[in-house]
Amino acid sequence: MSGALDFIDLKSQYAALKGSIAERMQRVLDHGQYIMGPEVAELEGKLAQYTGAKHCVTVASGTEALLIALMALDLKPGDEVVTTPFTFAATAEMIVLLGGVPVFADIEPDTCNIDASKIEAAITTRTRAIMPVSLYGQVADMDAIERIAQRHGLAVIEDAAQSFGASYKGRKSCNLSTIACTSFFPSKPLGCYGDGGALFTNDDTLARAAREIRVHGQSARYTHTRVGVGGRMDTLQCAVLLAKLERFEWEIAQRLALGERYRALLADVPGVDLLAVRDDRDCVWAQYTVFLETSSDRAAVQGALKAQGIPTAVHYPKPVHHQAAYARFAAPDAFPHSIGAGARVMSLPMSADLTHAQQDRVADALRTATTR
Ligand SMILES: *Cc1c(COP(=O)(O)O)cnc(C)c1O
Repeated sequence: MSGALDFIDLKSQYAALKGSIAERMQRVLDHGQYIMGPEVAELEGKLAQYTGAKHCVTVASGTEALLIALMALDLKPGDEVVTTPFTFAATAEMIVLLGGVPVFADIEPDTCNIDASKIEAAITTRTRAIMPVSLYGQVADMDAIERIAQRHGLAVIEDAAQSFGASYKGRKSCNLSTIACTSFFPSKPLGCYGDGGALFTNDDTLARAAREIRVHGQSARYTHTRVGVGGRMDTLQCAVLLAKLERFEWEIAQRLALGERYRALLADVPGVDLLAVRDDRDCVWAQYTVFLETSSDRAAVQGALKAQGIPTAVHYPKPVHHQAAYARFAAPDAFPHSIGAGARVMSLPMSADLTHAQQDRVADALRTATTR
């Protein structure tokens, strides 16, 4: 048996881009504009162009992007936001931090994304926005969500932390809603070497609000027009991403191909169900996530894979309303598909640099583990 695999291989990516990363970081160290240096605007221009959105505003993290998006929309205490309970906690966290109320709608059991047909029943006179999450790198049914939002005069915020680079009906994630928020946490599809994030919008007023909120609500230097945060992304991190963009298209193509290859390798493995990807979109596989039959099967399979040097993870073991901080927002037995997914999901090693030999090793080990 060869050595342990990385869950996400960032070392091969660094090896491929080492020269360019060093050069771009050195340029920042030489010009010395560590905050809001020229790389910030350069990156924002490139990311806006990539997604097709009119505006890109880089911020300190994906979490900060969600916070600034909600602040730009002027979310008030008591305002409700309809979102999915099956996500990373940050999605609901920023709503609650501003005094808002997350109102959950259950997921589709096969994609783990919010079920658009369940959103309307969650809307009240206090609802201000719908916040779908593009989980694992696949966008939710944004056209259906947009129609509901228009009917009720609501904003849509795409939590695109896991889906930068994904496509939906020929359009890019981050250009499908009123505002979109992504994360450049190192392990995300486009990751920097620390914290970073961005929000995207086609609305000039919201873009301006987000730019001001990012720097303490300043509309000009020392002119604090609104309450904001210190939410900028470092120039050095922007320089890292500019280097990473050089092969990002290749990485996305690799992710899509590796996802297809995993599908073929795992299609007939007993006790393993695959995530559904809808025909009109793709999945960039921020996580390559599959379903086991029960949580005890999952624990056994994780143990067997670990013994073979194959790391796995669970995204996420519990829906948000089963976390103590958010339990007050829903009954414990609500959202059975989210609870079921939490018991059954397991993520396998995935990154653009995963080799076919490594992928074969993961598939073989999984097949052995489930057929014992
Ligand atoms: C990673 C993630 C976030 C938070 O992004 P950070 O950059 O880590 O703050 C928010 N939502 C989802 C769905 C995520 O996966």
